[in-house]
Formats: sequence, structure tokens, C-alpha cells
Amino acid sequence: MKLIDLINRDVKAENESKKVMVALRVLYLIVAIAFLLDVILAGPHNFQTYWCGFCLFYAVLIALFIYTYYSRTRVSLWLFLIYVFSWSIYMIPKVGWSAGMQNFFILVLLMVFFGSYARIGMKLLLAAFVLATRVVVILTLGGIKPVGEISWLTDKLLQIVNISAVFSAIIYLSYNFSKAEKEEEGKLVEYNDRLQKEAYTDQLTGLYNRRRAKDYLADLIAENNGSAISLALGDIDFFKKVNDTYGHDSGDEVLKKIAKTMMETMRSNTFISRWGGEEFLIVFPNCNGDEAHIALERLRMAIHDSETVVGEQHIKVTMTFGLVEYDYGGDFENSIKLADENLYRGKESGRNQVVY
Ligand code: GH3
Ligand code: MG
Ligand code: MG
Repeated sequence: MKLIDLINRDVKAENESKKVMVALRVLYLIVAIAFLLDVILAGPHNFQTYWCGFCLFYAVLIALFIYTYYSRTRVSLWLFLIYVFSWSIYMIPKVGWSAGMQNFFILVLLMVFFGSYARIGMKLLLAAFVLATRVVVILTLGGIKPVGEISWLTDKLLQIVNISAVFSAIIYLSYNFSKAEKEEEGKLVEYNDRLQKEAYTDQLTGLYNRRRAKDYLADLIAENNGSAISLALGDIDFFKKVNDTYGHDSGDEVLKKIAKTMMETMRSNTFISRWGGEEFLIVFPNCNGDEAHIALERLRMAIHDSETVVGEQHIKVTMTFGLVEYDYGGDFENSIKLADENLYRGKESGRNQVVY
């Protein structure tokens, strides 16, 4: 079995965090490697004096590693704390203060914060306990010389091994636990985007809906530098008849087809929305009424020339448009009202036309 599988294996107990256990296993592995190197480096001089403790601590480490598969997170965290404390305190007098075994205390501190779901008060209490222990260690063991002979080079190598182990563990923990948070954050942003898109989209046609149209107009007017804006309301002619003749579902298909024709015919900066029912609001930013008129005529013709095919049926409809240029004196609601009046006039005078 590969080491990575041993580390990533799921926890047996329900409701326990696999992530914390995996982190603990990685830490045990880092600690195991560092401790082994410590013993090898310091060993030749006085191996006999601590080989018993060495074997014991390794047996315990393996047991604790295996125990992470079965135990509760909290228990494993406590055992990790006790283990790292005991081993460091045991080793400091053997290899000397300058070897830096006391740095492993930092790992306990990090696991208290990253690994446990305890309340912040409890975490701070534990942190205070770790600090207090560390202070006691300074007072009792600070500056202590190694038991046996340790050369200058060995001493430096011990320092490098221990500080590298602590750094690797810190990097692993910080990366791993902050990554998950970032991912969650990313997912939330994505989800919010989707929600907003849905809130702004008409389900049937995929066009923007009335809510989006209002927001869009408000924003457009707020940031506009005074260049012309035109807007038009379009309404399908005799749409009731389409529903009555071909059925409501076919009517829906006509709406979809018209939306598609609008998207295909209009320039990409033209804003197209379903204002409601079979009415559409079209906004032409940076366009005066005459320019918008030309574009709308093109659209009116395209709709006139197209047909919606539903099974055997070929449905043809026309549209009437009421167009206005936005008047900077009034609000956009007023312009929409004027566009609606033009639309009404178009309906009165024969439909299938653009009234400006
Ligand atoms: P006019 O030329 O005067 O506009 O005639 P019209 O028949 O289109 O009249 P009106 O605008 O009053 O009718 C709108 C019809 O559109 C009524 C309604 O049943 C239908 N309608 C509104 N929304 C939908 C929809 O989502 N799907 C379908 N199939 N029909 C809809
Ligand atoms: Mg209508
Ligand atoms: Mg209509």
C-alpha cells in the first residue's frame, strides 16, 4: 500500500473530520523523519543512553498514526500534543538546547487553531497553556548542553533538520487549511453570480427580464456623459390569436424565436429584455432616435420575414414598436411611458410598424 493512501485513508468514526486526521498524519510523518534524522545525527556518541526511549517513542508514533483511523479528532489532537511535548522535552537534554527541539511546540499551537473545532476561548486557553509550557521549558532546560559530545557540524545539522521540519509542517498546514477556505469562497462567489444571473434572466427566452432592464437603465443614465440614449417598446401583433389558434406552447415557441431574431439582428451593445408577456424593451445606448429607428426597422423586417416552425405549423407574426429618445430632463419611467404611447399609436394605425 502506498504511503499517500495510508495518509489519505478515511476515518472510521462518523462525524469526525477527515481533513484534520490527514493533517495529523502528515505531521506525524514529518516529525518521524525529523526525529529519525535527529537520532542518527546525535546517536553515534551516546546512542546507548537513549535507544530505549527512542524505540518507545517510535512505537508510540506508529500507534498514534494508526489510531487516527479510529479515534475522535479531539482525542487525536490531545495525543499529538502530549506526544510532541514529551518527545521534545525528552530530547532537549540529549541533543542540547541549540538543536532546536523546542520549535516543535509551534506545531501544537497551529494544530490547536487549525485542527480543532473548539470555541475561540478554548483555543486561546490552550494556546496560553502551550506558551506556559514553553516558558517552563526555557526556565528549566534553556541553554542546556547535550549529554554526549556533539560536534559543531552535528549541532548545525540538527538545527537545520528541526527547523526544516517545523517550516514544512507550517507551510503544509497553512496551505492546506487556507486553500479549503479559498475554495469555499470561490464556490460562494460562483453561486452568487449564478443566483444573480437567474434573478436577471427571463426563463423562457433567455433574455434579460424587467428587473434587469430597470437596473440597466438606472445605471446607464447614472454613468452617462450626456450622449443620446434611445429606447423602444415592442409588442407582438395579435398574439392572442396565435395562442388561440396554435396553443399556448406554440405561442411560447414564437416568443423564443422572436428573442433569437432580436439577438441576431441587433448590435451587441443593444440591450434587449423581455418587459413582460409578449412585450420587449430595447435600449440603444449612444444612439439617437434616427439611428435607433433604422435598427428597429431592420428588426421589424426580420421578424416579418421569419417564421416559427412547430411540427407541421409554420407561424408568422409581426411586431409593432414605439420608439423615443431618452429625455435627460425626466426619468426613464417617463420615457418608457412615452414609448408605450407611440406603441399604442402604432397599434391603432395598422400595426407592423415603428412609431417614432
Ligand atoms: P395586439 O396586437 O393589440 O398586441 O394584440 P394581442 O393579441 O397581442 O393583444 P395583447 O397584447 O393584449 O395580448 C397579449 C397576449 O399574450 C395575452 C397572453 O395570453 C399572451 N401571453 C403573454 N405572455 C405569454 C407567454 O409567456 N406565453 C404565451 N404563449 N402567451 C403569452
Ligand atoms: Mg401586449
Ligand atoms: Mg400584443
